[in-house]
Amino acid sequence: MLNCVKINRENIIKNLKRIRNMTPLICVVKDDAYGLGIENILPVLYNEGERYYAVAFFEEASEIRKMYEDVNIIILNYTEEEKLHEAVKDKIEVSVFSMLQLHRYIEILGDKIPELGIHIKFNTGMNRLGFDIEETPELCRIISENNLQVKSVFSHISNSENIENTEKQLEKFENITNLLKKHEINYGFRHISASPALFQYTGKYNFDFSRVGMAIYGLEPLSKDTGLEKCISIESKIINIKNVKKGEYISYGENNRLEKDTAVGIIPMGYAQGIQMQIENKGAYALINGKKAPVIGEVCMDMLLLDISGIENVNLLDSVVLLGKSGNEEITLRDISKWTSTIQDDIITKISKKIKRIITQGELWKK
Ligand SMILES: *Cc1c(COP(=O)(O)O)cnc(C)c1O
Repeated sequence: MLNCVKINRENIIKNLKRIRNMTPLICVVKDDAYGLGIENILPVLYNEGERYYAVAFFEEASEIRKMYEDVNIIILNYTEEEKLHEAVKDKIEVSVFSMLQLHRYIEILGDKIPELGIHIKFNTGMNRLGFDIEETPELCRIISENNLQVKSVFSHISNSENIENTEKQLEKFENITNLLKKHEINYGFRHISASPALFQYTGKYNFDFSRVGMAIYGLEPLSKDTGLEKCISIESKIINIKNVKKGEYISYGENNRLEKDTAVGIIPMGYAQGIQMQIENKGAYALINGKKAPVIGEVCMDMLLLDISGIENVNLLDSVVLLGKSGNEEITLRDISKWTSTIQDDIITKISKKIKRIITQGELWKK
C-alpha cells in the first residue's frame, strides 16, 4: 500500500471517555465520520455503548441503520421528500428547519406524519438553518394540529470563543424553549453545544446532550490546546529519489529554483489524494526516519516533492509521515492547517476516499 490513513482506536476511546465525563453525547459521524470511514468508527463507538448518532445525509443514516437496529440516527442536513417514507420505516429521524420544508413534509407523508421523528432546529445567530423565534407560535400550532413527533429542539453556536455572542445565542435558545413550554409543546430534549462550546464552557451549556464530532477524533476544538489524544496519521512512501543540481527548476513552472544541490524524494500523493496545493512555499514538511523533509515545488496531481538532502540513508519505498509521529518529531493537524490556511476538518475530509483507512489498536501507530 503506497498511501494510507491510520486511525488509532485506543485514542478515540480515550477521547470518548473524556467527553462522556463532561456530557451525554450524540456522536456526530457526518460526512463519513469526518472522512475516517463510518465502517471504521461506528463499531468503536457502538462497542463503547454509544447509541445516538448524527449524520449529514439520508444515505449515511441508511448505512448506519443496516449496521445497527438499536441506535437513534439524526439527519442534520436536508432530507429529500422522496426519502421520507423510508425514514419512517427505518426509524431515521430528520431535522426540520423551515416552514416551507415542514409544510412539504406534512403534505408528502399525509396521515403518516406523526410517525416521523423530528428534530426542530432554531436559528439563534448562525443564520444558516433554523426557525426564527418569531415563527415559534405558528410552529407550535402546526406541531399540535398535525400531532408531530418532536424528538428534540436544537440550535448551533457560530463562534464559541466569542463569549458575548454565545451568551446571546443561549438566551435566545432559552426564550424559544420557554415559548414552546408556554404553548404546552412536548419538545423532547434540548441540545446546542458541539465540541467547541463543550470544551470552552466545560459543561455549562450542555442541556440534555452535546453533539460532538471533532473532539472524538482528536481534532482540537479551540484555539488553545485541550490535550485531546491524536487519532489520525497519514503515511506515504518514497517512490523515487533524484539528485538535482543547484540552479535547476523543480516541479511545474519556473517558480521554484534550487539554491543548492538537492536530493529530491518523490511520494505518490498530490492534490487528487487530498494534499492541498496551498502548502507550496509555506514551510511545510513531511517526516522520514524522524527527520523533517521540506515540501518543495508545486504540488502535482498525484505526486509531491520533498527535499531529503538532510536525511541520511533514504531508500526507495521508505515510509513518509505526512500527519502524525516519526521518531521525536510530529506533524499535527494544526501544523497542516497553518500551512494550508484551512481548518482541521477540511484537511481530513478532503483526503481521497480511495486511500485506505486502517484502524489500529495502537501498536501500528507507535512504530
Ligand atoms: C458538525 C456539526 C456538529 C459537530 O461539530 P464538532 O465541532 O465537530 O463537534 C454539531 N452540530 C451540527 C449542527 C453540526 O453540523
